[in-house]
Amino acid sequence: MSGAASDSAVEGSRPEPAPPRVSLAVPSVGQAEAEAVAEAIGGGWVAGVGPILAAFERDLASRFSTEHAVAASSGTAALHLALAAVGVKAGDAVLVPSLTFVATANAVRYLGAVPIFLDVEPEFGLLDVGRLRHFLFRESWILGGVCRHRATGRRIRAILPVDLLGHPVDMDVITEIAREHGLAVVEDAAEAAGATYKGRAAGSLAEVGVLSFNGNKIITAGGGGAVLTHSAAFAERARFLATQARSDAVESRHAEVGFNYRLSSVQAAIGRAQLMKLDGFLDQKRRIHDRYAAELSDLPGLGFFAEASWARSSFWLTCVRIDPGRFGVSSRELMKRLEERNIESRPFWEPLHRSKAHAGAAADDIRVADELWEQCLCLPSSVAVTDEEQGRVIGAIRSAR
Ligand SMILES: *Cc1c(COP(=O)(O)O)cnc(C)c1O
Repeated sequence: MSGAASDSAVEGSRPEPAPPRVSLAVPSVGQAEAEAVAEAIGGGWVAGVGPILAAFERDLASRFSTEHAVAASSGTAALHLALAAVGVKAGDAVLVPSLTFVATANAVRYLGAVPIFLDVEPEFGLLDVGRLRHFLFRESWILGGVCRHRATGRRIRAILPVDLLGHPVDMDVITEIAREHGLAVVEDAAEAAGATYKGRAAGSLAEVGVLSFNGNKIITAGGGGAVLTHSAAFAERARFLATQARSDAVESRHAEVGFNYRLSSVQAAIGRAQLMKLDGFLDQKRRIHDRYAAELSDLPGLGFFAEASWARSSFWLTCVRIDPGRFGVSSRELMKRLEERNIESRPFWEPLHRSKAHAGAAADDIRVADELWEQCLCLPSSVAVTDEEQGRVIGAIRSAR
């Protein structure tokens, strides 16, 4: 065959086939979820509200130790409902860490309220409670139990701390500060399902908390989220608003403008199956984190976030912090080197005091969030990542310098 020689010549110059992609955080779903969906469909429960959704809400309340859970169509929707339930109104201000996913602040804006951005601390990347206390002391005044922002005159209604990367905030301190100023607290635990704070479940630490079941979170319901609360009144309010604020189902009367935010039954079926796997997922997330830490910590200029003695993180994503001077390359250069080996990694979100979406929002003096944004890189942390794949990531980081 005359073509054979030239074929093999071409083959000889062909680059190595790309190794399979290692993704940042993909869901781990299988037979159990497929069976749960089939059962839901077989039982005639697909899109509507029904017994599977009610069971999922009972499972959630039981697993996360709250009196009530209201499943929602997304974590963002759940945040919107939670903020509405605690009484955030148009014109109010809500205190939000600058280093978080944009949805945290978007939910505030949906209500016509505005975020005020505060800095995070460098050890865990969480809302800096010292700065929070200082900000309220300096920048607010209280009259008749109403806390107002000096610069804008807006009523500060709530604090919205975020359990960043799955590490819970120091909620006892935040609760005390909130009490002193008459503020509500909503816990954004979207990344922290299964994490604990002094033995208590993340999501249950404030009067209202929020989980996300987006595909990249610890457990998924094919999208979705939940409001967790100890208050029957807040749960009822959230459920009412999520159901188009329907006050009479038969006559279809609506007392106010609500939202279509309920989770579907099919999604609830997936969520129930995933919830049963949560403990196994948490073990795996911790194993992934511990192996990265064990095999990378000796590298100069590369560090990890700490885990507080009072906390157990969900280790949603493992992030490394890169000091480019000592490590040799920047976090973004490292990201490119990993991408060349078909490994997905991601920096943090642009700090929200810099976001065009929230231009004009007030912000405290913010430095640490900027530093972490510049220096951090999140590594592949999917529950199903194999030892071999994680070994590839570690090898690629070690040889990137
Ligand atoms: C994912 C996430 C959300 C939003 O959840 P969705 O289910 O994607 O709407 C909110 N806050 C934080 C901190 C998140 O990570």
